[in-house]
Amino acid sequence: MQVLGSGGPESQDKRASTNYLVWDHGSARVVLDAGGGSALRFGESGAQMSQPDVFLFSHFHVDHTSDFPALIFSSWFEDRKRPLPVYGPTGNDFMPSTAEFVHDLFADPHGAWRYLSELVEPRQGSYQLQPHNVAPSSTPVLIFRNANISLYAVTVIHGQVPALAWRIEIGGKRIVFSGDTNGEGEGLTQLASNADLFVAHNAVPEGATGVERRLHMPPSVIGATAANAHVKQLVLSHRMLRTLGKEDETRTEIKRRYSGPIQFANDLDCFLIK
Ligand SMILES: [Zn+2]
Repeated sequence: MQVLGSGGPESQDKRASTNYLVWDHGSARVVLDAGGGSALRFGESGAQMSQPDVFLFSHFHVDHTSDFPALIFSSWFEDRKRPLPVYGPTGNDFMPSTAEFVHDLFADPHGAWRYLSELVEPRQGSYQLQPHNVAPSSTPVLIFRNANISLYAVTVIHGQVPALAWRIEIGGKRIVFSGDTNGEGEGLTQLASNADLFVAHNAVPEGATGVERRLHMPPSVIGATAANAHVKQLVLSHRMLRTLGKEDETRTEIKRRYSGPIQFANDLDCFLIK
């Protein structure tokens, strides 16, 4: 699992915003989110947009989505022929659904980049983006399966924004991404059960209150989730100015509950799953 973007929305965290790659046998099989700056990191990683079997979104905040068109336009210059399925949440009054998001970007006649409408309206030449809305579920659900990969999602609470946590099963291993969530409910713990690697978002410090806490998990909640799910290793990402520099406190809070290995992610870090 490679972290392409280890930061949050702030440019002064000097990190790309959220993006993760799952590699298998030298190929980037799954892309999860595409925050600002991550398209550059994608190129630096050596991945190519002809490789992914599937593209996933946790939710549609800017720091998880804004480099998606950059990655897609990059694919235009590569030899991609097969369709690219795109899975993400349904919409509500605050956010588009995954299908709306893709069409708002690329579809005729109103898409911002409708000059790429071939991607969503079959014509000769282009491969197809195939967006799918994942219906909300409080328990993990199988969303996608091919010969190598199984993907499960569960709805998580991130304020009023429809949001998903994802589990990627590949090569007999389980990689789980919390996405942005305050950790409420049992769904994330169920999804992360016995994960080989659990990537959680370190967006707020212990003691956070108000909106910050309503949107994000403090270290104590991350630690409790990792412990209850018996995950084998924990990676902390989505690091923000309010948590950067507090790594010792964060680690201490988590260790009170979870005894496995804890690592803080930086852009382009790779985490081997043995
Ligand atoms: Zn975020």
